[in-house]
Amino acid sequence: MPKIQIKKNDQVFVLTGKDRGKTGKVLKIFTHTNRAIVEGLNFINKHTRPNPQKQVKGGILPKESPIHVSNLMVVCKRCNKHARVGYSHMPDGRKVRICKNCNELLDE
Ligand SMILES: [Zn+2]
Repeated sequence: MPKIQIKKNDQVFVLTGKDRGKTGKVLKIFTHTNRAIVEGLNFINKHTRPNPQKQVKGGILPKESPIHVSNLMVVCKRCNKHARVGYSHMPDGRKVRICKNCNELLDE
């Protein structure tokens, strides 16, 4: 199974689908399904039933739905492009992600 290269709070670029070409921030990753929720993107209309006891009004509620990570690429802050991700080892042994365009670190 390929390792997920995207992390929470990354800026990501959408490669396919109706939000193709847009960028957004990753809010949540579902590692078991390889999907990510991206802020403001891939809205679906979720139909909710009214529940007066919980003061929930029925209707259609737009909600972000998860996008498969293979359709997302991390956006590099330095070169401002969606980047192929490489890996590098820090002197302290940590493995960090780097942008393959400009070699900028993608992790703090
Ligand atoms: Zn870069």
